[in-house]
Amino acid sequence: MKYIYILGACGSIGTQTLDVIDQYPEEYKVIGLSVGSDLILSKKIIEKYKPEIVCFRKEEHIFSISYAPKVVYGDEGLLEIARYQRYENEWLVNALVGVAGLMPTVEAIRNGKNIALANKETLVVAGDIIKEYVRKYKVTLLPIDSEHSAILQCLRRESDREIEKLYITASGGSFRNFTREELNGVTVEDALRHPNWSMGPKITIDSATMMNKGFEVIEAHYLFDIPYENIEAIYHPESMVHSCVEFKDGSIKAQLGVSDMRIPISYALAYPQHRALAVKHVSFKACTLHFDDLSMERYPCLSYAFLAAKKGGLYLAVLNASNEAAVHLFLQGRIPFLKIEQIIYEEICSEVYERSYTPSLEERISVGKSVFAKIIKEYGEIL
Ligand code: NDP
Ligand code: MG
Repeated sequence: MKYIYILGACGSIGTQTLDVIDQYPEEYKVIGLSVGSDLILSKKIIEKYKPEIVCFRKEEHIFSISYAPKVVYGDEGLLEIARYQRYENEWLVNALVGVAGLMPTVEAIRNGKNIALANKETLVVAGDIIKEYVRKYKVTLLPIDSEHSAILQCLRRESDREIEKLYITASGGSFRNFTREELNGVTVEDALRHPNWSMGPKITIDSATMMNKGFEVIEAHYLFDIPYENIEAIYHPESMVHSCVEFKDGSIKAQLGVSDMRIPISYALAYPQHRALAVKHVSFKACTLHFDDLSMERYPCLSYAFLAAKKGGLYLAVLNASNEAAVHLFLQGRIPFLKIEQIIYEEICSEVYERSYTPSLEERISVGKSVFAKIIKEYGEIL
């Protein structure tokens, strides 16, 4: 039996995790959940799984529950779930959005929980520190992201020293058939219509700007210890090949599957087993796959991610915070789509974030907060 905690249980990854758990009720027991602003869904989920600890998004969201779990709320509540410890084989599925997911991951590791990580911002901002904690506290961290799950599967029983390169595939996002000129004037509704995946709003925008792929390169660097120059993002519009590993002898292993996040979720929860799952399977009938280079001119956010990674230190926290602020403003209709990349570029080119030492978690979070606040103040009124 695995004892499961889910942060962000009402979201896209959260609900799909519950769907996987439903398929193996004898294997998984839900012990803790953090729910969201959708109170009807929150109630349904709490009453169905009856977790021992529940975290509400805000104090005013707390409603009466038919039994008596421990009830917590807000950022501190997320940390209380991360600290709650009752069983041996505990796993925390982190499906929060943004840097809000970072400290709960850290706290869960410190408390001996294994991590199934969807919250990619955790690794973008603090991949180096997280890796160190995973080693120190002897826990397992597995990715819930189709690309990293694919690489993990390709690397089973392979030796790291034989890896030549990682290829991370990208669908191209909502505007893949648009020229840069055509991006002027696109709407939030257009941007939220991803051609291949149904995901939460923030990652859907990150996919349209290609920042999501930039984040995934950074995640792959930390998860698999591969230098940035050996990681390449490639265009693959069908989203059937989820990523590939090239070995030194020229052999390439790829992992394929339909675009359904329940597959990587199930792999993380059942690792290393490929347990039976009620999802569609690939049909090769009349199937054509395409691959191409991803142009950094067409998708500058990808090059900004590489630039921030090269600068290191605080720049990854700044990359993430400026992206979170810009995407937030775009989703609110307060800035146009192309302003997102401009805002990020201004921040990562600034010299004020240069440091001669490795910044602590606290400094990264604090600088990220001030970058976020500054951008909201500066650009909030412009359209
Ligand atoms: P969603 O927006 O669908 O869901 C996120 C959930 O977490 C919501 O219920 C939300 O509540 C809650 N939440 C967000 N921020 C906070 C916070 N600060 N405190 C408490 N609760 C919070 O997101 P996704 O499921 O799409 O994404 C989750 C993470 O997984 C992201 O990091 C994303 O990049 C990553 N990911 C997602 C994939 C996907 O297919 N969706 C694929 C690969 C990675 P509320 O409703 O109130 O906002
Ligand atoms: Mg992905």
